Amino acid sequence: MAQDRVIFHVDMDAFFASVEQLDDSNLRGKPVLVGYDGRRGVVAAASYEARRFGCRSAQPMAIAKRACPHAVIVPVRSRRYTEVSRKIFSIFDDFSPLVEPLSIDEAFIDMTGTDRLFGQPIDAAKMLKSRIFDEVRLTASVGLAPNKFLAKLASDMNKPDGLTVVHPHDLDGWFLDLEVSRIWGIGPRAAERLSRGGVCTVADIRKMNDARLKHFFGNEAQRYYRLSRGMDDRLVTPDHQAKSISNERTFSDDVESVEEVQRVLLEQVENIGRRLRRKNMLARGVSLKIRFGDFQTISRSQALDQPTNLTAEIWHVARNIFDLWAARSFQPVRLIGAAVERLGQANEQMDLFIDSENRKLAQAELAADQIVARFGRDAVKRAGTMRQKPGD
Ligand SMILES: [Mg+2]
Repeated sequence: MAQDRVIFHVDMDAFFASVEQLDDSNLRGKPVLVGYDGRRGVVAAASYEARRFGCRSAQPMAIAKRACPHAVIVPVRSRRYTEVSRKIFSIFDDFSPLVEPLSIDEAFIDMTGTDRLFGQPIDAAKMLKSRIFDEVRLTASVGLAPNKFLAKLASDMNKPDGLTVVHPHDLDGWFLDLEVSRIWGIGPRAAERLSRGGVCTVADIRKMNDARLKHFFGNEAQRYYRLSRGMDDRLVTPDHQAKSISNERTFSDDVESVEEVQRVLLEQVENIGRRLRRKNMLARGVSLKIRFGDFQTISRSQALDQPTNLTAEIWHVARNIFDLWAARSFQPVRLIGAAVERLGQANEQMDLFIDSENRKLAQAELAADQIVARFGRDAVKRAGTMRQKPGD
């Protein structure tokens, strides 16, 4: 029997404007327009305070200013939004390997079969929202449904800071009244053509017979027949398969203690191991990057004996590389970075851990991953990882 799918659509609330209000407390509670304040300027984002005056994204700035003359206008800071976006997406990665980004602040997450890790889907959604708020101090709205179409509609229903569940069995009322333009794939031109034919809402599409569906939608007729009944089989497909996963840190002052650099390196390896396991991938190589105060940079890499996603095994190799370098030529470190490379998909993950020692390790690491997903990265201080690998 096919399992019901559990799909989240996560959408940050007024993302750019919220980041601006986060970074500048003077902007909080005020109508904020993000965008270029010039003749041809367009609103990239409007805070909720500005939306009350009818401002919205994609509106010409001149019109938004007329609607809300006292709005504060701030320029777009793409790099900052990208930085925040990375943090948010790395939280998504903790919840599922199947994350499909739609934009800088929006993604589908396939949570099917994660009950064992995160409990009921509604609790997982609450957990995800509080992780985001705890770590980036911004709110997200989450839609929870058995497919992408309904999940995306749901996330929009109770913004900001919403959490909305759409059950396929109560799709009457609001769903029937939805304008056709809200249906996936129906753009403004198609919507206009439909409305000329008297088709304005989802209910109108449901009433169409096969011939009319064919007339309006051609060989997509079946798809719209199904969408108008809340059915959608599209899979959540992760954008691109990463070729490497890395983590680096630049220190504000050069670090002169070998142990301190090693401690940071371990944290990085733990983070990388977690991301590998969430993506259900295996790495075949480890590399380190070390930069000094004068910007001279060295990198060292080493293959793994066998593909792995176990933190302990990655750490074993990373520490070897590091110790070899530190013993001979340590000097104060400005930047340390770790990466795993030559990634591949793990299929039957547990089968790869042939000996029981590794199987136990894998189980321990997966258990710790669940705690991190629930409570954040500080929750697990895995002192045990510092141990030598068994057999060393
Ligand atoms: Mg958004």
